[in-house]
Order: sequence, then structure tokens, then C-alpha cells
Amino acid sequence: MEVRRQIEVSGIVQGVGFRPYVYRLATGRHLRGTIRNTSAGVTIEIQGPAETVQDFVEHLPAEAPPLARITGFTVNEVPCVAMQIDDDDEDDQDFRIVHSHEGEEVRTLISPDVAVCPDCLREMFNPKDRRHRYPFINCTNCGPRFTIIRNIPYDRPSTSMAVFPMCPACLTEYENPLDRRFHAQPNACWACGPRVELWDKSGKRIECRDPIAEAVSGLHAGLVVAVKGLGGFHLAVDATNPAAVALLRRRKRRVEKPFAVMVPDFEGAQKICILDEAARTVLQSIQRPIVLLEKKTPSMIPDAVAPFNRYLGIFLPYTPLHHLLFAEGGFTALVMTSGNLSEEPIAIDNREAIHRLKGLADYFLVHNRDILLRCDDSVMRVAGGVPRQLRRSRGFVPVPVFLKDDPTGANQSSVLAVGGELKNTICLTKGKHAFLSQHVGDLENAESYSFFHEAIEHLERILEIRPEIIAYDLHPDYFSTKWALQQSGAKLLGVQHHHAHIASCMAENHLEGRVIGFALDGTGYGTDKNIWGGEVLIAGYEDFERAAHLENVRLPGGAAAIREPWRMAVSYLAHHFGREFLGMKFMKLDTPFVRQLHRPKVDLLLRMMEQGVNSPLTSSCGRLFDAVAALVGIRQQVNYEAQAAIELEMAVGSSEEDNGYPLKLLPENNHWIISTRPLFEELLDDLGRNLPVGTISRRFHNGLVEGFVELARLLREKTALHRVCLSGGTFHNVYLSERLEMRLSEAGFEVFTQKEVPSGDGGLSLGQALVAAARMRAWELGFTC
Ligand SMILES: [Zn+2]
Ligand SMILES: [Zn+2]
Ligand SMILES: [Zn+2]
Repeated sequence: MEVRRQIEVSGIVQGVGFRPYVYRLATGRHLRGTIRNTSAGVTIEIQGPAETVQDFVEHLPAEAPPLARITGFTVNEVPCVAMQIDDDDEDDQDFRIVHSHEGEEVRTLISPDVAVCPDCLREMFNPKDRRHRYPFINCTNCGPRFTIIRNIPYDRPSTSMAVFPMCPACLTEYENPLDRRFHAQPNACWACGPRVELWDKSGKRIECRDPIAEAVSGLHAGLVVAVKGLGGFHLAVDATNPAAVALLRRRKRRVEKPFAVMVPDFEGAQKICILDEAARTVLQSIQRPIVLLEKKTPSMIPDAVAPFNRYLGIFLPYTPLHHLLFAEGGFTALVMTSGNLSEEPIAIDNREAIHRLKGLADYFLVHNRDILLRCDDSVMRVAGGVPRQLRRSRGFVPVPVFLKDDPTGANQSSVLAVGGELKNTICLTKGKHAFLSQHVGDLENAESYSFFHEAIEHLERILEIRPEIIAYDLHPDYFSTKWALQQSGAKLLGVQHHHAHIASCMAENHLEGRVIGFALDGTGYGTDKNIWGGEVLIAGYEDFERAAHLENVRLPGGAAAIREPWRMAVSYLAHHFGREFLGMKFMKLDTPFVRQLHRPKVDLLLRMMEQGVNSPLTSSCGRLFDAVAALVGIRQQVNYEAQAAIELEMAVGSSEEDNGYPLKLLPENNHWIISTRPLFEELLDDLGRNLPVGTISRRFHNGLVEGFVELARLLREKTALHRVCLSGGTFHNVYLSERLEMRLSEAGFEVFTQKEVPSGDGGLSLGQALVAAARMRAWELGFTC
């Protein structure tokens, strides 16, 4: 029996080879019908024998092209269309791709940039192929997207490929529905597409037959080569050459922050790192993020690549050019770090690169396909067997986070959330979609701040969103906050930092109602104007209650205390034991840390704190980690954000040791203060007994976990809530997050963590957007009732 079905598919299904895929699926089964692009995705009409149509419907989502992401799939019965007898019109006797009407508004999701596919690689390394060794080979399943789009709709004239008219051979592929390059907008070849050139350090083109081979010689000679990638420039050196790594560190003024390392393939990664199944999958995914993996020892990668760190950031080649560099050079590994000075945004334009990377690179391997929007590499790590975002950028942006409902409800308005100050991202919502920007960076930096503007403007343009609500952090000094407060024409709403963290976790897990939220991080502005960071909230999207927090201590010197963890150790010791801790009155305080303190400096610090001069109060969890790291002798000063906390985590011994330092919960005005006094008492005892740092670090982590579980139990008794959300930068600590999640689950809680967006401040904008939308709805309801 003949049947006809209408299938609506929504999600990322345009510009990713979806129509040719459906065409092949239908014609291969001799089914008749049509497919057309719509504003939501595609509509398919399919007709034929019931069984074959059923088979088609079942295969359709399962075998979709790699870049497609189906978010909606509905099948409806429709009446059959009679077979046409008229020979002139064979339309209903086959399967046709119906082109969208001229001028019809086609709005759909844009695909991110993804790694070159195996089919293209096979062609590129085939001497007989017309694209042999062509560094810009791509097809509908792979290549650049987001970073080459100027405007929508996404077709060639709206991209930076507009200046390269296709040659007849490329055009034939482009127009053939059965070809892998049907409507592949960046399609190109040696005859018509972009080219690679090698420039010297002053930006002068080097005349040579093979720029890639020349660049490889430079790398072999231990030089620094700037390589233009998908979302910006990388600075590359041979990762197995310690002198080259040292040279790059010196020039980049990056003292100890780890460098990312690109290896030729999966086997190459296995040689230097320990990989489990989850890591293997992420590493080889089409998004090709940097994955933090445990180093194997001994290693051919010098320690200087990631000093004092058990982990190494590894990624695989993702542009054809990367593959050619490895094939030509035979490298074990290349350091591939963002082409910038520390903390500035990544350089994208050829001339900009020459200017900004002056003195950093010896050669520039450039090309003439413009990158219209910078996009750093994404960074992920596996915790609890699940891959998690630490920096969500290339390969993922602009795929939205899919929400449970439109956060603005029946209003159907859009929210722009401008994020925090460090690791900034912005977020735009439209219906059930929350679009997070790529990693923008630290806004204190002037270059990043102008990129912040660019990112908002670009995302609003390509998504056609005009936000009615703008959400910002409460911190009055954040650049993003200052920017938001200058905007007119939209409703402005401030959102508390830790509330936003918990809302971000709730949003990606599709939670409603209220939860117990642990928001642990370094710094966030509190509603009492103190610096928060060790917060336990009872929260919904609309509002929150501060149910408990780490006890306040002084942050002596403000920002200086963040750079110099020894100050935090002094602050905690003075807080718990008084300034007499210096007098060695307590035997337990006779520790190497106290003995090596510079007395005049400490006296000054103590006076500052006593008089409350430049010493704000803080309940920061990050600063507690800093204090402990300094006290046990791991680190007194940091060279990059969270270094002390990271090294304290790295020190956790692998023993079966299950003890933890106790915390004390002190009730105060309807909430609990988490006192660290007993923790420090026992930690000092252990230091006095010369226990290994690994054991102390482990006990410190375990103690925090047990204290938090106890607190969750108390809150469950009080509120009957049993769902717990974990968010904030501290949860980038794998030992802490895995253990807390496990212990809370054992205690009968339902635990939710962040995977899709970072738990650190990179995920803040998502939470801000949801909170602002909920508050606006509540406000309007209150107004109309
Ligand atoms: Zn391809
Ligand atoms: Zn061509
Ligand atoms: Zn935060």
C-alpha cells in the first residue's frame, strides 16, 4: 500500500549536507517526494510503499550527516499524491530538492567550524586527486563556517569566500545534489581558491616553491612559526625541543601557564598521555577541542610545556594545513598556543598578526581566506567519565544550548547576558535556544574589551536578535557591567554572580523549581558588597537565599592577595589564632611557612587587616585553596589564575587515605557559617608531624567534601529539597567534583553538574540570561495581577 508522510526536521540541518543526504536516502529506496528548507529547518514529503517509507523514516535521523544536529522531528500522515501520467512533468515520479523562494526569509541555525573529514583527507593525500595537498579542501561535512560568516543567509556571498569565484569544476560539484560538495559554501581548489604564503618576521613574502616545507624547516630548526588556523593564529614550536619551548615562553612572557600540544593522530596522543574511552571520543570528535589528559612518565615532552602539572592539553590536527605540516615534518608533537601576548585575544588578520606578534614569531604561515571572527580553541576535560567544557569556543559556537522552554515565556522576547569579567562569554536567547558566544577573554584587557563589542554585534547580526532585556553581573567595576548600564532601549537587570552560576547549571540540566546550589569559586560580588565565593544557595531562577557560606576572612591587599597566596595563609592564621601566631606561642604554628615569613611585610599586612585598609571581607573558596597551598609550601605567588589551587589538586596523593579535616557549621540568623577553624587546627598538627603534602592535600579535599555533604543534609531536612547543583570555577578541580558528586549521591541526593558549558565564569552568561528572564516574567505577572 502507498503512503505519504510529511516530516518536519528542525535544528542544524541547513548548510551541512542534509538535503543531498535525504535525496540519496530517498532515491536509493525509489521513493518519491520533495525536500525544502524552511525557517525552522527542513520539510520533507515522502511517498511510496508503507514499509519502505517506514524504513526511510527510521533511518533518517539515525544516519544524518556529522554536522547536522536534529532537535525536532515530527512525522504526519498526509494524503497520497497521484502519479502524473503527463511525461513532461516527472516531478512527482522522483525525489526533488525544492529551492527556497527568492526573498523568502530562511532563518536557521548556523553550524560551527569543524575538523576536516576523512573523505577530504583521503583526497588531499592522493597524488592523482585534483586537490592533492590543497590546504583548503573541504566539503559539506567539514571545514569553516562560523568564522567565515559575515551575514546571513549562510551562502558564499555572505562569507569571506566571496572573493573567490568558483572554477567550472568546483561549480559542478557545488550544483550536483549527489556530490559531497553540493552547496558547500567554502568549496575551492588549486585553480580558484585561497593560497598559503610564508612571510618573514617583518611581513615580507618569502619567495619559495613550497611555503609549507619551508615552515617545517623553520620548526625543525627550533624557530617559532605563527600558523593561521580556523579561528586565529597559533604560535607553533617543536614540542620535543626544550630550547624552542623555552624560547617561546620567553617571547610570549608566559612564565608557567601550560601550553597546548598538537599531536599527529590518536596513536601520537597515546604515546604521551593516558587515555580512557571518553577522552578518546572527545579527542577524535569533529570539534577537536584541546583535552586535558594525564601525562605519561617519562615523557618526550619536556616539563617546561606544562610545569608542575600532571596534565597536558592535547589536541589533534583539524585543518588540512595542520595535517600537511605533520605529514611534511614528521613531528611527534607541536606546541600550538594562541597567537597573542598573555591574556590578549587571539590574532586573526594577516597584517594584525605581523603587528601584534612582532618579536614573537620568526615566520608567518599565512593565507588569504579571511577569518571574520576570532574563535579560540575549546578546552575540555573528562571528570566522572563525562567530557566537560572548560572553555567552550571553536567547534561548538554558535550551536545553542537547548533549553527546556522559552525562558521569557509567552513574551517571546530575547535576553542578552553580558557575562563576567574574566573568561567572559556573552549569551543571547531566542525561544528555546541560548546562544553562547565564543571565549572572549579577560575584559580588563583593552583588546579583549573591543572583541567583547564585536562578539555581541556579530552574534546579534547573524542570529537576527534584538534583545529586549540585558542582564549583567552586580560587580560595579566589571567592564561588562559598565557597558550594560550604558545601554538604552532595553530593560536592564543585575544578577548576583553565584546565583547565575547555579542558574547556569539548572538551565543546561533542564531543571525547574528550587535546588540546593553549591557555588564555589574565587571571586563574585555579593549582595552585601563583600566578595563571595564559598556559597551554598537555595535557588530557583527567580531568586535565591544564601543558606550558608564559608566564614569571612580578610583579603589583604585586594588583588595582590589573589596574586600572592601567602597573604591568604597569613590572613587565615591571623583570623583563627590572632596576630600571636607569629610569636610561636602555639607550638603547632612553628611551621616552615611561618618561619620563613618576612616579618616587616607580615606586620604591615596585619595592620592593614586590623584597620580594614584595602582588606575586603571574603568567603571565597578559591582563596581558601590558596591559603592551604601556601601553608603547605606548594606556592607563595602565582603566575596565572588559579595556579595555586591547581597545584594543590595535582598534589593529592593516590593513597587510600579517607580522613578529612573537619569543618564546623555555626548557625547564624537563619543560615550557617562554615567555620574553617578545626580544619586549620588539624592541618597544622599534620604539618607538625611532617606528613607528606600529598596526604595533607587529600585530607583537605576530603574534609571540604564531608562538610558540604553534612550541610546538604541539614538543608534537606529544612527545605525537603533533594536536588543539588554544583557550579563555579572550583569544580574544574576533578578530585573535588568527582568525590563530592559521589558522596552526595551516596547520601541520596540527585546531583547535577555542568558539562555543556563551563562551570567557571565562561558559563556565567547562560545563568544570567535565565535569571533575568524569570525575574522579568515574575515582575510582569505581579504587575498585571
Ligand atoms: Zn570534507
Ligand atoms: Zn575550483
Ligand atoms: Zn564565578
